[in-house]
Amino acid sequence: MNGDIMIRIEWDENSCTDPQACYKCLGACPEQVFLTYPRNKRGPGKAAGNWAIMPVFLNLCTECRICEEICPEDALTVSVSEESVAKEKTTISDRT
Ligand code: SF4
Ligand code: SF4
Repeated sequence: MNGDIMIRIEWDENSCTDPQACYKCLGACPEQVFLTYPRNKRGPGKAAGNWAIMPVFLNLCTECRICEEICPEDALTVSVSEESVAKEKTTISDRT
């Protein structure tokens, strides 16, 4: 790799139905990459809800995969982006 690794974190909202009740990945991530946010906003007499997870500080992610391993619902997938993999393959083939 040329030092431009791009990490992608996919979150499956169908598997993680209540992040606020679980919170395991948010608590376990050593780099505090994740935040939760309400897709249904708070309003007069109405609480926020329908919470989602966002890897807001993705640039801090070290690809340790602790979040992936700790998730009881297999809702998180950490991967190197296709673009970086393509670059790595190009670099390797350039050397041969
Ligand atoms: S791979 Fe590691 S650093 Fe990255 S979001 Fe998951 S727990 Fe945090
Ligand atoms: S550990 Fe998994 S199920 Fe729990 S909040 Fe994180 S993504 Fe959702």
